Amino acid sequence: MQVLTSTTAVQSRALDLRASERSIGLVPTMGALHEGHLSLVRAARRENDVVLVSLFVNPTQFGPTEDLARYPRDLEGDRQKLEDEGADILWRPPAEEVYPPGYQTYIRVEDLETRLDGATRPGHFRGVATVVSKLFHVCLPHRAYFGQKDAAQVAVIRRLAQDLNFPLRVVVCPIVREPDGLAMSSRNAYLSPADRQAATVLYRSLQAAVSLYHAGSHAAESLRQCLIAAISSEPRAKLDYAAAVDPDTLQPLDQVTRPTLLAVAAWFGGTRLIDNAVVAPRAHSLLP
Ligand code: AMP
Repeated sequence: MQVLTSTTAVQSRALDLRASERSIGLVPTMGALHEGHLSLVRAARRENDVVLVSLFVNPTQFGPTEDLARYPRDLEGDRQKLEDEGADILWRPPAEEVYPPGYQTYIRVEDLETRLDGATRPGHFRGVATVVSKLFHVCLPHRAYFGQKDAAQVAVIRRLAQDLNFPLRVVVCPIVREPDGLAMSSRNAYLSPADRQAATVLYRSLQAAVSLYHAGSHAAESLRQCLIAAISSEPRAKLDYAAAVDPDTLQPLDQVTRPTLLAVAAWFGGTRLIDNAVVAPRAHSLLP
């Protein structure tokens, strides 16, 4: 696996690959890699000639009081995992390579950036949209892989890829979970043992709402109240949001008459975790 830091080196490599008609699969990450990330790498490996993984803890998507400085980092462990998965290129630029002095261009997905995590983390999706646009321009991927775990991020990236005419396919991979249901996340490492145990309430809340839906309760508000009740029953959890929304617009729905994103976020101590599930009427779930 080739390890690159320079933007121009990656971009000229990508141009060469495109010129020789080799397909590029891009997996953007912030490192501290776990099975969730590796599932994206495996999907990219199956579907592309060349797998390019970016590892960049993007400062512009962190708020001033957030965990940028203490975000988990394990470069050597990450390098080894990617090597084992057969990734071809690891791009790990220093921050000044992505945002050199004088940098002042940002991408905003105006409505979506205010919803779900964007409401709690002002500026977060502006940072995400900006860095992902730059990754697309530098890496020139044919396909780019993202996790359904970050469902609002998926909506933002799909929208920007369409709005800015990026010639690529956004591929969304399923959520990878721990055996007890907790969605894998680099931030799980922050949890105390008691909070780690308590955090399973997110998945349990989604299971309860999905069961309620299958029992015939199709009103979005009843599903939302089910999520809230489950999370509130865990004293260590502090609810941030519970939502039943359109997966593309992230706007609230009244009834589940089409695929509906059930999304939750809660604090466990100083750590904010998210999770989600999609429910859909049978006619929709049978569609390819
Ligand atoms: P991050 O390093 O947290 O920015 O995540 C990089 C990519 O991995 C994003 O597209 C995430 O949605 C995805 N990802 C993170 N956790 C999981 C998971 N548990 N299952 C699937 N994908 C994930």
